[in-house]
Amino acid sequence: MSEAEQNLQSAIPSVDRLLRAAPVLALVEAYGRPAARDAVRAVLAELREELAVGGAAPDEAGIAARVEASLVELMRPTLKSVFNLTGTVLHTNLGRAPMAEVAAEAAAAAALGALNIEFDLARGKRGERDSHLEARICRLTGAEAATVVNNNAAAVLLVLNSLANRKQVPVSRGELIEIGGAFRMPDVMARAGCKLVEIGTTNRTHLKDYAAAIGHKTALVMKVHTSNYKVEGFTAEVPEAELAALAHEHGLPFVVDIGSGMLVDLADFGLPHEATPRETLAAGADLVTFSGDKLLGGPQAGIIAGRKDLVAKLNRNPLKRALRCGKMTIAALGATLALYEDPERLAERLPALRLLSRDAGEIEALAKRLAPKLAAALAGRAEVEVVACMSQIGSGALPVDALPSFAVSLAPTGKKSAGAALNRLAAAFRGLPRPVIGRIQDDRLSFDLRCLEDEAGFLDQLSQLAVK
Ligand SMILES: *Cc1c(COP(=O)(O)O)cnc(C)c1O
Repeated sequence: MSEAEQNLQSAIPSVDRLLRAAPVLALVEAYGRPAARDAVRAVLAELREELAVGGAAPDEAGIAARVEASLVELMRPTLKSVFNLTGTVLHTNLGRAPMAEVAAEAAAAAALGALNIEFDLARGKRGERDSHLEARICRLTGAEAATVVNNNAAAVLLVLNSLANRKQVPVSRGELIEIGGAFRMPDVMARAGCKLVEIGTTNRTHLKDYAAAIGHKTALVMKVHTSNYKVEGFTAEVPEAELAALAHEHGLPFVVDIGSGMLVDLADFGLPHEATPRETLAAGADLVTFSGDKLLGGPQAGIIAGRKDLVAKLNRNPLKRALRCGKMTIAALGATLALYEDPERLAERLPALRLLSRDAGEIEALAKRLAPKLAAALAGRAEVEVVACMSQIGSGALPVDALPSFAVSLAPTGKKSAGAALNRLAAAFRGLPRPVIGRIQDDRLSFDLRCLEDEAGFLDQLSQLAVK
């Protein structure tokens, strides 16, 4: 070992000595020995590299400060609350529907202790997980029976596998949808073990196309809500009631995947109408499937409602066990569904609906209050304007309908590359303690304020904005 290397070694304390030194000992107590030891080792390894190219070793307190910083980083959760100012209310990448407080509280209570999730308190015997939701779903949809699984993709998989394994299912070519995240109807059908029979064309499918496709291997007739796109122009699809009548003539179930199953008429809240499970069941569907965390505004879940004998078949399928919901989901969904019993107060109590039906004038007033404060925080680095914009509902619901809203729109000043400056600006907002997620469009960063309810929380952290 050269003299320089020896000096280096002696300048750096050993791992054991550091772990006994007072400032590091406090970290051992706070974070546990294994994590503290690993952090000490990592910091010492960094120090050796740094000292090899010169400089002086820090003292114990200096080393402890670095160890603490690395422990803080290690323990920081990767999941963070963010401000969703993208303009898409039900943003799948940002967790879809914000849940009602009562739903979050119910989930927390379920998480924290033992509960009668599968225990019949009256009889003192094993109970049914679905019993906590089924009656409520039936009341709200008019169905005879219902069951709940992890998400709507699971609901579709369970229905197809339970009712159409090794059999054929005719589906219109206009409804062979892909939802984000690798949910493609033809692939789900294949995984469910059933044979998709494509009928009609992309833009037009007629009752006679269905009639011609039905044979002795047909298991059911299926309709899929084309939730995230719209075919416009010269189009034709068969109304649900006619498809139901055709299926029933052949003794087959009629199944509808309605996607975003809003339980009340959105038109009552000044929003575009979206088919409800009740309407679809009344039109003759034997089963409907829909998501819990889209327009319904609850936790991630897939709800299947309809005929009792068919739901019983789903419940007998071993896949049901693999796809079942956890107790927190059941608690949160139950509390969310209970809010629907009082439609008059729904828009006030259910955050998703409250945000979707928020008055544009109120959003504009908020934008006008925030703009000067944002401008001050940006200190000349960007120009701030209040602009009218359109919010999207998101999650594939009502893809062509947009809601009038207002945004604060930021344009970086300075002559440097606008694109790079814009990216730095967006990164600075994402770097805040509660990251702010906007949308970059037309050389501007805009924050649609429809989903901003915590105005004080948003303003409080602006002083920490660090634009590079
Ligand atoms: C969203 C959607 C799905 C998938 O639902 P998840 O709850 O996201 O699994 C399936 N079908 C349709 C028509 C949808 O809109």
